[in-house]
Amino acid sequence: MCDGRTFDTVADLGKHPLVNSLVAKKDLAKKDPVFPLVVKQCRKCGLVQLVDIIHAEEIYKNVDYLYFSSDMPGLDKYFAPYAQDVKDRFIQNPSDLVVEIGSNDGILLNLLKDGARVLGVDPATNVALRALKRGIPTVPLFFSERLAGQIRNEWGQAKAVIGNNCIAHLNDLHDLIRGVDLLLAADGVFIIECNYWGGMVKNTNYSLIYHDHYSFFSVKVWRQFAARYGLTVFDAVVTPAQGGSLRMFLCKDGRPATDRLQALIKEEADTRLNAFATSVRYNRNVQASAKKLRKVVDGIKKAGKSIAGYGAAAKGFTILTCSKIGAKHIDYFVDDSPAKQGWYTPVDHIPIISRAEAEKRLPDYFIILAPNYADGIIAKEADSLFRKQGGKFIVPVGSIDIR
Ligand SMILES: [Zn+2]
Repeated sequence: MCDGRTFDTVADLGKHPLVNSLVAKKDLAKKDPVFPLVVKQCRKCGLVQLVDIIHAEEIYKNVDYLYFSSDMPGLDKYFAPYAQDVKDRFIQNPSDLVVEIGSNDGILLNLLKDGARVLGVDPATNVALRALKRGIPTVPLFFSERLAGQIRNEWGQAKAVIGNNCIAHLNDLHDLIRGVDLLLAADGVFIIECNYWGGMVKNTNYSLIYHDHYSFFSVKVWRQFAARYGLTVFDAVVTPAQGGSLRMFLCKDGRPATDRLQALIKEEADTRLNAFATSVRYNRNVQASAKKLRKVVDGIKKAGKSIAGYGAAAKGFTILTCSKIGAKHIDYFVDDSPAKQGWYTPVDHIPIISRAEAEKRLPDYFIILAPNYADGIIAKEADSLFRKQGGKFIVPVGSIDIR
């Protein structure tokens, strides 16, 4: 973000497969590639990031992009107040244009399309096709400055440009922000929702660290970065998504900082969030948490009990790899997304099955692979056969709770 070239190592997490590269049955004999996962921090601006990055073309090569937003439980409910906030504050009339970068199957734009003109941008063809089917115009390309210019020519300038959970996937943030600047009307807003380094540190959450995520953001680094392009972060809030996501609002017309933004800036300063010493402490906590998880799992296996994975979510695989938990510990993953069923996890080749199939061989423990959804999952399962049989959940981050 600052073009700095000096980095300090925050965490060396070893070698990991690409988490979204689920393996088809016919490819089980092949060896899956693994890549180092080393987190570093820029000495100049404080951005926590992967330095040896794997390009998106490689990450998504030969893989059907398996994540459909609308398949995620509760995501519609999460986006409803978000969409309402955008409408209330930033959209004045139905001719206003909203462009969403990384729009997936159009889950958010679907909630905005009645009050505005909407356009999605998402390079994954299969999710773009799903969006088109539900009437959300979607460009199946990577967002870039060039594409932003083309959109502006055809659709005009945007009142809002939104990017949810996609900014961390971009290697060239300069190109992104130049594109946004080009596309955004003078009174428009750029809304970003991304991972929050503050939440990761607070909760010892390392489930978001995998090759798809190049950066881990704070308010401070974004304020510095936006200023270089004449943009101002004027509002920000930490949302409960992903165990604490950062939603930021940027403008061109220099609006004053909201109270909640000022509070966040103060909190980052008070906790020295962007200091390298904080990163060192974070790494220590992560290593201890991974070790503890392995101990808990070993104890369960020694007692002759079975464990299965709940949700084959990408964000759980880093935890398992760091804790060296694999096929000898986990019998299968259950996942509600039909797009993942019948596939196998990379390297360990643990099968992913449907809930109906899992009901026939329920484990003693489910390890929740998307720890950010733990509360929702546990509530949803309250009356399930699994619970009636005495099944327990392992929440694999932080203090490693058995619930
Ligand atoms: Zn930097």
